[in-house]
Amino acid sequence: MDRVQVTIKDVVPTSTVLAPANVSMAAAPGTVNEAGGLIGAGRHQYPLAAGAFTVSDVFGARGGTHLGVDLAAPAGTPIYAAADGLVVASGAASGFGDWVVIDSLDESGRRYSTVYGHMYENGIFVHAGDIVLMGQHIADVGSNGESSGPHLHFELVPGGRLTGGHQVDPMPWLAGGTIPAPTTPYCENGFGTPGGNLASGKVPPELEIWYRRAGSLCPEIRASLLAAQGQAESGFRTDAVSPDGAQGIAQFMPGTAKALAPDGQPYVIDADGKGYASVLDPADAIIGQGRYMCAIAKTIEGWMSEGKVSGDLTALTVAAYNAGEGAVLASGGMPNQISRHYTETRPYVARILAAEPGFRSLGSEGRFQADQSSDLGPQIVAAGQQWLGTPYVFGGGGPGGPSDGGFDQAGFTAAAVFAASGSTITLPRTAEQQWERGEDVQLLNAKPGDLVFGSFGPRGPSDVGVYTGSGRMLHAEFGGKVSEVPLSNGMKARRISR
Ligand SMILES: [Zn+2]
Repeated sequence: MDRVQVTIKDVVPTSTVLAPANVSMAAAPGTVNEAGGLIGAGRHQYPLAAGAFTVSDVFGARGGTHLGVDLAAPAGTPIYAAADGLVVASGAASGFGDWVVIDSLDESGRRYSTVYGHMYENGIFVHAGDIVLMGQHIADVGSNGESSGPHLHFELVPGGRLTGGHQVDPMPWLAGGTIPAPTTPYCENGFGTPGGNLASGKVPPELEIWYRRAGSLCPEIRASLLAAQGQAESGFRTDAVSPDGAQGIAQFMPGTAKALAPDGQPYVIDADGKGYASVLDPADAIIGQGRYMCAIAKTIEGWMSEGKVSGDLTALTVAAYNAGEGAVLASGGMPNQISRHYTETRPYVARILAAEPGFRSLGSEGRFQADQSSDLGPQIVAAGQQWLGTPYVFGGGGPGGPSDGGFDQAGFTAAAVFAASGSTITLPRTAEQQWERGEDVQLLNAKPGDLVFGSFGPRGPSDVGVYTGSGRMLHAEFGGKVSEVPLSNGMKARRISR
């Protein structure tokens, strides 16, 4: 599979797509910078040729539940990428039949997605990881999934469909407008990072980012635990309601949802910035679940240190989510007060703890998947980028990803190399030890994915990052977070090979 080059015959000349194309910012088609970033951000066009479709349903129809536009067209009508971008999902998706999600950058460099739905499996011509160009023939119109006739369901999602964004009406944008800024205030303020060790593809893709964020709120609670709990609570159904009144994907009782967390806000808050908080909104519910689980864990930790409660912290926290913290305190551990504790709570805990490892990812965080057949360097960069924004934690992280909520410098580079290599290259834990691995490369000849070392002392370097090109690196910033920053003075490069 060719990941970057796009042959010209696949590219529909924009002159045949008469709907207005905003090409004023277009760079040379197919231009990709050395770190894999797209040039030409901002240009866009209609996903179907002018005259080939009619709008059969508008954004916000069906009582506000229709989050895209429906463009009716005969089955087999070519669908074109509306913008240059990276394919982040391609294949089956609930309700969509098969879908394609393309992430692109707007004029301000912010991520947004275009989403294409109801195609048939054999009518999709791109794969996750492909870079596509505006106007590229990516799929054919179908009537797969929840569809009453051939049409393209098209969505525009500032902030990204799989990264916590919200759909907006795509029509003004298609007509030449600009993309509204994404509305994710809590996340922009660092409310949960996209870290959180979670296996890819185990939860519905649009939920993954929220479990990862919720799993980074406190060191006691992992994304994989919250995902296993979500499966047990609701089967990931966002509209689930239980006979006793628990609601939504995390099965919150209304009183608990509104109760105040230690930070003085309700457990369930408007995590995704849509303007209100709701237990029926998966983003709000999952972040609320993480907030509540973290609060329970801290309470139980306190009781354990006072000798009031004993047992496994994770198991007791899960038990308290089901039976209430009071049941754990009264029992001095795993709830044993009433028959329901035996018939419901204990099996609930056992089921979640058994399922949790299946949601864990070793070495890879979320969406990154190593491609053993392509060059290692760019993949080290791509793997490292998965953790941008993850907090700096002294001694944190390693080949398996973040630990204690974050990374230090060498923990970060070890994680990036391990994930990029498909779990085959395990670097040692310190910069000094990592320096002994790999071949010497003059800094002038360094390529993206080389490791760059600094702060040399008598025994070697104490600092390390991942070179991204143009004098910059991905680096766990002391006291900050994983960021892309300029190299420090005196850094030297080494190359890791398979
Ligand atoms: Zn639709």
